[in-house]
Formats: sequence, structure tokens, C-alpha cells
Amino acid sequence: MKKMIYSALIVGSCATLWAADAPKLGYKDTPIIPGTSWHVHDGDRPQPRLVTTGASFSHLAPAPSDAVILFDGKQLGNWQQGDGSPAKWKIEDGYMEVAPKTGSIRTKNKFADFQLHIEFATPIKVDGNSQGRGNSGILLNGVYEIQVLDSYNNPTYPDGQCGGLYGQSPPLVNASKAPGQWQSYDIIFESPRWDKDSKIMKKASVTLIHNGVLLHHKKEYAGTTPHRANGNYDRPHPAEMYIELQDHNNPMRFRNIWLRSIGEYDKP
Ligand code: MG
Repeated sequence: MKKMIYSALIVGSCATLWAADAPKLGYKDTPIIPGTSWHVHDGDRPQPRLVTTGASFSHLAPAPSDAVILFDGKQLGNWQQGDGSPAKWKIEDGYMEVAPKTGSIRTKNKFADFQLHIEFATPIKVDGNSQGRGNSGILLNGVYEIQVLDSYNNPTYPDGQCGGLYGQSPPLVNASKAPGQWQSYDIIFESPRWDKDSKIMKKASVTLIHNGVLLHHKKEYAGTTPHRANGNYDRPHPAEMYIELQDHNNPMRFRNIWLRSIGEYDKP
């Protein structure tokens, strides 16, 4: 019955009004994502359900003793611009903040398979909407993005919301906190591997926990994560690559960033 009413609305005169009033989310002129029936950034893809998390990140959790500290809240010595010059983002009270239009920054060191902890806050002053609101990103190996976005009451296309593997896989749920609140990502990432003939042998994969809630479990990237296009594995790169934080013109904040490489118990 519901279906019939819905259909009647679609074909009836209301359809025009609906279309005019509905916010435009995403794209329909992009390629189909292989293995799905959805376009890249398809606004009609189901929205992840909301989960309220009790986890509080108002206090910094100390890093494990064997972690590499990538950002201690005081200086950006472990980070640089894409051209190798010193990182231009601001340091404030224990956090770094994107200086819009200065460019993305990346780690000086390179890592293959790792556990990464990072905390972030979207701007407390809400400005813009959809992809224009509180946008940044964590680019693993520099090319596989985990989206960082203000997804608190901010509709956007599901594969571009906070925790999405950009343009590919929406998060299992939306566990975002309100603007200005500190949030966390705990990321387990494994780099892709190619054989000597440049054939992909093992795709990049990620497990992602956002504010204590699982968003992806051993999820494989379909490839790189470009805007409005399907990514691929056409350009082999070393297993060890840098991690990049994206400048998307919003004053996003990051703090307490640490990493532990994944090894064997007897070979850390
Ligand atoms: Mg982004």
C-alpha cells in the first residue's frame, strides 16, 4: 500500500514540487560503482542510520608506550607540505588547525600496515552544507581517503559522509558528534601489494572505529578515491607511503595522532 501511495506521488503533480524542494544530494551523471547499482556519490543510496555514542573524548587518552607520536599538540615537525616545505597549518591550544588554502599536509615518515589513532573536531561555527561543511580527509598511502566531514544533521551523499571510503563505501552507521566536539578515529589499515608485473595482488583494506563505533570491518578499497570517478590500482606504489591530512578549505582541527606499525609478535 505504501508503495502505491509513493508511486502516485511520484507520477502526480506533487512530484514537481518534491523535486524542487528536495535538497540535491550527490550525482547521477557519474559512473556506476562496480559491484553495486549506485553511481559514484549517488544521493539516492540509503543513508547510514544514526548511532549516538556515549564515548567522550574531552580528555586526551595517552598513546600506548610503543606508538610513534605523529602529533603531540605542540609542533608539526613530523609533517610537511606536498612539496616538502614545512607544514603551514596552525598550532593552537594542543591541536593543529587547517589553514585554509595552504594545502594538505603529509607525514614525513612512511608506513605500510598500521593502527592509527587520530582525533578531530569540525568547526563549532557551522558554515556551508553537504560537502562544504567541515570537510577534510585522511588519505592513507596518500590516495585512499577516509572522509572527515561534519555529518551531524548535514545530509550529503552517503559515500561522502564522515567515515566513508570516499566515492565507494558509505560507513555502516553515522556516529558523528556535534560541531566543535572532539571525535576519534581508530584505523587499522593494510597497504595494497602488486606483483612484479604490476598486477594487484592484495587490495588496500581498512577497519575503522569512529567514536567507539565500527564503521568498516576489513573493507577493501576498490582503488584510489577520486571525486566523481571510480578509482583503480593502475599505479603501483611502495607498501610504505605517507599519510596525508586534507585541506578542503574548512578550519578543521586535529590532535593526539599516533601510530603503531603492524608486525609479528616476535617482529614488531
Ligand atoms: Mg574530504
